[in-house]
Amino acid sequence: MKEQSPVLKIGEIINKTRQYLAGKHVASPRLDAEILLCHVLGKDRVYLYVHFDQPLEKRETDLYRQLVMRRAKGEPVAYITGVKNFLNMTLAVDESVLVPRPETELLAELAIKYCGDKPMFLLDIGTGSGALALGVLNNTAHAKALALDVSKEALKVARKNAERYSLGDRVIFLQADMRDYLKEPVSDKFDIIVSNPPYIEQKELAELAREVQKEPALALCGGEDGLDFYRMIIDNALKFLQRGAPLFLEVGCTQAQRVVQLGRQAGFAKSGVIKDYAGVDRIVFLAGEGFDENKILAYSGQ
Ligand code: GLN
Repeated sequence: MKEQSPVLKIGEIINKTRQYLAGKHVASPRLDAEILLCHVLGKDRVYLYVHFDQPLEKRETDLYRQLVMRRAKGEPVAYITGVKNFLNMTLAVDESVLVPRPETELLAELAIKYCGDKPMFLLDIGTGSGALALGVLNNTAHAKALALDVSKEALKVARKNAERYSLGDRVIFLQADMRDYLKEPVSDKFDIIVSNPPYIEQKELAELAREVQKEPALALCGGEDGLDFYRMIIDNALKFLQRGAPLFLEVGCTQAQRVVQLGRQAGFAKSGVIKDYAGVDRIVFLAGEGFDENKILAYSGQ
């Protein structure tokens, strides 16, 4: 006869799972154990702490085990739960989009402050889950956006997120390769362009954490030196921007100065670099004459 597995309490299963995931080289085993359990129970983390002694039902334990196994094999938590918090939103995510990162929140926050309550028209190049465009729209009253992505699957996720936050009437999603879009004659001029393009160097792809390797290479690989998409965007952006309007770019941790240089070469008169919470040069902004770069530096407190 099959042995009956013991009934585990919330506190016990979290501890066991933490140990198990730590043994599988998961970087934040306790947090991940908790987030997955929250997902199974449909509760938040405070609930777990208050109900440490609550026994789990068998079906909850079984489902939890399956999810923990996936995490142990390196699948990002956000792909398992299907959601990721970004600013004040809970965005749907799946394997077709990059999992939104805190660094990108920083870019969104700068863009939100820049847009304020003005009727800004924003272009998001490589929107993925829609994090940047929707993050700005959801936190400003009158901004509108055009959000591009080459991936049809990614745009499905982004559209779902727009609907979730009733932003569908303020954003147009366009499936296009930025190479083609940026070469088109200019139909619309934007008040601001934002992008978190793929920026990992080709040779670094194989060395990325196994979690990152589960993310779409299309959203990660920026060519041999990681700068292919910056060159493409920067060389074409001025003609898409209103006079003195900015381009905000997330960059890899060693790329900021080279990206600023690309901006100078392309004729951007103004530039600046903003550090992320870890002190890494993470956001580059470029703009034409007439742009007040001190305003952005003041927004960032740097
Ligand atoms: N932030 C991601 C990483 O470092 C890369 C994202 C990107 O290429 N835009 O893994």
